[in-house]
Amino acid sequence: MAMRLYDTLARELKELRPLDGSTYRFYCCGPTVYGPAHIGNFRTFVLQDVFRRTLETGGMRTLHVRNITDVDDKTIRDSQAAGKSLADFTACWTDRFHADCGLLGLLPPHIEPSAVEHIPQQIAMIGKLVEKGHAYASEDGSVYFNIASFPGYGKLSHLDKRELELGKTQNVRANADEYEKDSLSDFVLWKGRRPEDGENYWSSPWGEGRPGWHLECSAMIKEYLGDDFDLHSGGVDLMFPHHENEIAQSQCACGGHFAAHWFHTTHLLVDGGKMSKKLANFYTLEDLAAKGFSAMEVRYVLIGAHYRKPLNFTLDSLGAAREAMAKLAKGARALAAKAPAEARFDAVGFGPFQAAWDSLQDDLNTPGCLGGLFTGLREAAKLEGEDAARAMAAFNRLLRALGLTLPEEEPEAEVPAEIRAIAEERWAARNAKDWAKADAMRAELSAKGWNMKDGKEGYELTPVA
Ligand code: AMP
Ligand code: ZN
Repeated sequence: MAMRLYDTLARELKELRPLDGSTYRFYCCGPTVYGPAHIGNFRTFVLQDVFRRTLETGGMRTLHVRNITDVDDKTIRDSQAAGKSLADFTACWTDRFHADCGLLGLLPPHIEPSAVEHIPQQIAMIGKLVEKGHAYASEDGSVYFNIASFPGYGKLSHLDKRELELGKTQNVRANADEYEKDSLSDFVLWKGRRPEDGENYWSSPWGEGRPGWHLECSAMIKEYLGDDFDLHSGGVDLMFPHHENEIAQSQCACGGHFAAHWFHTTHLLVDGGKMSKKLANFYTLEDLAAKGFSAMEVRYVLIGAHYRKPLNFTLDSLGAAREAMAKLAKGARALAAKAPAEARFDAVGFGPFQAAWDSLQDDLNTPGCLGGLFTGLREAAKLEGEDAARAMAAFNRLLRALGLTLPEEEPEAEVPAEIRAIAEERWAARNAKDWAKADAMRAELSAKGWNMKDGKEGYELTPVA
């Protein structure tokens, strides 16, 4: 059974089969490197990672291209504010992005091109668009795409006719990289040099300037994936205008179909609103590490909701993720203890974890897959010997598909004999309901640096933090 995924353009679930019959080739819009990526950005990157891992777990080869946006309005503005060259400024944030990706267990893309490294390709594409009558130069040395020249404009983001007519009659132009649907307009391909751009300009047939943001993805896709490729992905905020503009540029310049499938992830929210740098309501991995949470716990939270549903982020959800992962790890240890070490299996099916795998294959249902891991472990607890080993292999395969690493068992702290003796005495007092003695001895233990936690069948000693 091939994996199925919702296609934003076709508005239906489609089976994923590589156009070239062998390698699934896909493109993800990458980060704009003007600050640390927040965990909203990482919701999108993590789900793209699980998407790739699921294809690969199913035996498909992939070619994953994700760009670095290292020139745009924001990178230029903030590099100048920081008193750094654009290259130094963006290199520093690119390094930080890579470090965060590593902590989250993201597979590096096979190709990671940057916008600044592909200026000639972008200029060549503008040339084609001008030549074919889809773009025009304006008096300020900029070049714009004429959206009225492309009948397919608006299909992806489902703009209706009225909105398109409005855009045309207004004949407005957008010079900024980012704008909203209600300012539908011709968009900029080449921005004529302005004093505020400082040293960041290149020469072109239309004078000095720099490329507009939307163009870079089209040019890099042409370079590495050609005119037709399998899938394009990004957060849902990129659907309009960014992806709409990419389709317009690429189809008009190159004549191909561009992406055969569109995969958009819904936003991570905070208090019901989008987590974004602009609203300053975001968390980075560093912020959460300072609160004692690991990147793997963040990853667990991010895959805990379906990619087509909004996910409201709370710190409580990180605590719940910690508990859930500890529970999974405990179940896995119990299963491993029953599996003969010498048995090695190339799991053909997924045994008790079949439902977990089917969830991933069915529109990348990551919460369904996590649920399937818990029920699978309960079923697998009944297995012995080679059956247990086979189930263990299936469980590990699913963990790899989700990109999860479970916590190792907490090593038990060495308890000195003197402390153990006091604890034993206190336990006896407690069982004899001598509460005064038990309380006094608990205080004695805590003065000596140990917490004693009573359970139904025994006690636990942990060093005072
Ligand atoms: P940027 O660095 O702003 O270009 O964004 C990088 C990626 O993160 C893009 O695919 C965005 O659509 C995505 N993104 C931005 N904010 C969020 C959010 N709150 N939740 C999920 N994805 C997001
Ligand atoms: Zn893009």
